[in-house]
Amino acid sequence: MRNHGVRGFAFAVMATAVLACSATAWADGETAPARDPKQAVDEAYTAKIKKYTTAPNFTSPLVEYLPASKNVPTPEVVLGDVSGAPGILPYAEDVYKYMRLLEKATPRVKVFSIGTTEEGREMIAVAVSSEENLKQLEENRARLGKLADPRTIKQDDAEADKLVAQVTPIYYITGTIHSPETGAPTALMELAYRLAVDESPYIKEIRDGVITLITPVVEVDGRDRIVDLYKWHLAHPKEFFPPLIYWGKYVAHDNNRDAMGVTLKLTENVLNTYVDWKAQVLHDLHESVPYLYDNTVGDGPYNAWIDPILADEWQMIGARNVADMTKFGMPGVFTHGDFDTWSPGYLMFIAAMHNGISRLYETFGNGGADTEERTLQPEEYARTWYRQNPPYPKTLWSQRDNNNYEQTGLLTSLHYFNENKRMFLKNFYLKAKRSIGKPGTEGPAAYVLPGDEPRATLQAELLQVLTKQKVEISRATSSFSVALPAKKEKKSDKKDAKNEDKDKKPEPTSKEFPAGSYIIRMDQPYSRIADALLDHQYWSPDDPQKTPYDDTGWTFGDLFNVQVTRVTDAKVLSVAMERVGEIKAKGGVKGDGAVFAINNNAEPALASLRYKLRDTAMEAAEEGFDAAGTKFQRGTILVRNTDRGALEQATSNLGLRAVALATAPNVKTHAVKAARIAYVHTWLFTQTEGWWRMAFDNIGVPYDYMSTQALGKIEDLNAKYDVIVFPPIGFSASTSLIVNGISTAWGNPLPWKNTPETPNLVGKNDSTDDMRPGLGWEGLAKLQKFVQNGGLLITATDTSQFALSIGMAEGVSAARSEKMKIVGAVLGARAVDSASPIAYGYGEKVSVYCDNGPVFSLNSIAGARGRRRLGEEMHTRPTGRGSADDPDFVVGRTSVEAPEEQKSEVWEFPPVLDEQRRNGFRVIPLANRPRVIFRYADSKELAISGLVEGGGEIAQHPAVVDAPVGKGHIVLFSINPVYRGETRGTYAMVLNAIMNFDSLNAGRKDSEK
Ligand SMILES: [Zn+2]
Repeated sequence: MRNHGVRGFAFAVMATAVLACSATAWADGETAPARDPKQAVDEAYTAKIKKYTTAPNFTSPLVEYLPASKNVPTPEVVLGDVSGAPGILPYAEDVYKYMRLLEKATPRVKVFSIGTTEEGREMIAVAVSSEENLKQLEENRARLGKLADPRTIKQDDAEADKLVAQVTPIYYITGTIHSPETGAPTALMELAYRLAVDESPYIKEIRDGVITLITPVVEVDGRDRIVDLYKWHLAHPKEFFPPLIYWGKYVAHDNNRDAMGVTLKLTENVLNTYVDWKAQVLHDLHESVPYLYDNTVGDGPYNAWIDPILADEWQMIGARNVADMTKFGMPGVFTHGDFDTWSPGYLMFIAAMHNGISRLYETFGNGGADTEERTLQPEEYARTWYRQNPPYPKTLWSQRDNNNYEQTGLLTSLHYFNENKRMFLKNFYLKAKRSIGKPGTEGPAAYVLPGDEPRATLQAELLQVLTKQKVEISRATSSFSVALPAKKEKKSDKKDAKNEDKDKKPEPTSKEFPAGSYIIRMDQPYSRIADALLDHQYWSPDDPQKTPYDDTGWTFGDLFNVQVTRVTDAKVLSVAMERVGEIKAKGGVKGDGAVFAINNNAEPALASLRYKLRDTAMEAAEEGFDAAGTKFQRGTILVRNTDRGALEQATSNLGLRAVALATAPNVKTHAVKAARIAYVHTWLFTQTEGWWRMAFDNIGVPYDYMSTQALGKIEDLNAKYDVIVFPPIGFSASTSLIVNGISTAWGNPLPWKNTPETPNLVGKNDSTDDMRPGLGWEGLAKLQKFVQNGGLLITATDTSQFALSIGMAEGVSAARSEKMKIVGAVLGARAVDSASPIAYGYGEKVSVYCDNGPVFSLNSIAGARGRRRLGEEMHTRPTGRGSADDPDFVVGRTSVEAPEEQKSEVWEFPPVLDEQRRNGFRVIPLANRPRVIFRYADSKELAISGLVEGGGEIAQHPAVVDAPVGKGHIVLFSINPVYRGETRGTYAMVLNAIMNFDSLNAGRKDSEK
């Protein structure tokens, strides 16, 4: 009943709005957004639009009709109904088929293939514009290219103005990167049709003035899966349908966090399209917020590296978008909200970081094409200063409503953009020019990566990311030095002084770089993205934004564990250098001898080599040594009596350097084996593990991929596997969820498998008859037995918490933080036990990615709760005679000296007290105690990049722990060492554990202090 009242109200509002906008001019000199009375209308299609729109004000004069065409097919030819019709969700293939029909029928549409996905599906971009514009695409691109790179016109503003007057700008729209947000493809099919055929002045102006470029489906693999699921749902209307556990091959929602690392095909393909077309706008379509949140304006803090011109463009374009749609009477349209614009990881940010304009819509989707009653939360329907006409608390909502909002928003944006295109084009040029001017303005002048970097393969990987981002990279042809700004001295903890003394040398005021050093000049058009990735991020704990939308720190040099120097000294730009194209670390074998040594610098490529030469025996040196004029570190790989040719080939391909030695070094060694790996996922979430899977695939580490359900069914895990990797699950999956799964006491099975309705579901991942059951208690027992019998289990963040919560390891516990707020930040860590194989190749300091823990604590007594150190310890004596430092006395007896209190550091085991030793069956013997390999840095050195508030809760606590259990080990990470392709510097911690799975006790010291 209540709902009827709401809809009746809505109807009354809309009637007034339509009258108002058709009777008056839209703005000074602008064409009103309305159908031309002369425009022929497709009556049948229009009637269906009306039928599927659930309230009269959920549409606009721009989309409430469909223009008729004699020769151009409407979306109905492919869909069998109109765009947004209930029950209809096209596969990417159908969307492409339609776009290609358009291309055939009209010279105003051209379809371009822009690459393929991980699973081999095609991605396309559809250009819609006047025939004349499309004929001149190449000439136009050449002119746009000059604006994009002002160096080509000597940064001559007058020349730029001439170009601005001539060129047609490009507005790039991308749809459904998030697969459960299903509406964009049909909206974009119809949008392309409208732009191609409508002769109304409003639409014609867009067509003649702008090239609209459309990628209707960004996540193509995920699109086919969600359409499958929707078909399954239609075939089983009374049953619950399986949630979309896999989107793309590797990640789900995080596919929109890849614009920094560019590890996914979809990011690379969109980035290439955006930059190669020299587009001005990248507008990405999402669905989660009612009814249209143009989060372009969003909220602070804004990314520090964007040009303020862009912030102004966001304001202009966002405000106008809301204004236009408000005048149509469409409720729930707003542009300010709680999305902060700090992280450059979003797909749309490709534009922000390449001198364009990033935009993003959240419209309201039902996750499928059912028309449904939707009830909102109070904060969603509240009228606020930035949302004067909020959505309704409750309404019937259809996919067509969603398509109406998407198309109306896009058409008004396109029109406004066209009206002001000379300004936006000039801004495009100015932003590029100001990027080139960086060395002379805010700086820096360059970033330098030294030519003698010991982690050459990681350095190359970092430079390859920048190359994908279209950043120009040069290489110095001779050595040079640069002046460095004096570094402010950091006061470090007294406690830590003994460890940190050697870092306290006064900072030199200049720095030498050898020939071959890489220079990333900041006087180039895409300096902005290089600067944003390589610089440090500071998020103030006092920032008014209390809920960061995503990661707050990402400094790539730190996370790749390679040296990057920010150089403000402009002299660096006159160093002799040459541009480099493809960047690859130089590998191969040198020297003579039958023993080959490959230094260990914690490069993932060592694991590639291990698995590539699977049958070759390899050993790790347990101590460092000098040979052939080289200092070899602990963990150096030794290969004896092998085929030099095969090693030569493998090391050159991988960029690793092998040195042939006449004799083997006189150090203890152990075998480094190609471990057999079981890689475990849950049916709860697969995204966080997906980043690990991608890393393993890229490095070439093979594994058997299985669910907790499947693992639980393997009788003898030790017979098949050496290592079980259980990567993080995400969303803080609890022990109960991992073991029990989702209850099967009610509901129906949720299958994830290929059926006639779901032919695309499984891909190359995994399948099950019912996603609900978890590991199970028997599975858990098998997992424990695997470790007891000598296997290695690797866990991180929430799976570490899981392993510890069920008591799989003694002497270490995990707790969730209390007040600490570390939101996806880069933290300092310190090596505690460098003799452990897990630490091979690492120095004393390493930067790690942390997202609020968990906080590990050690205890020497089995079953005791973890010790916590929050704040200052108490150092008082009881009330009595004398002063605070003066001993008390007891009248009538001689004084007795109290035994010295034993102390330990946070990352060390607390001393066992004499009283605890009495009948101390719970005291954990030294040999059974976990070994702390890395710990978090002290409070003052904890924050490297991002928001670190209340870091004292985790400072100095263990970050990576190797716990012996029976004959085996559990290696527990508090950090996430493998994340979004960004943390490549910590990959080797995991890979070291894997390769040394049966020698993890190497270097272990069991003597008490
Ligand atoms: Zn989304």
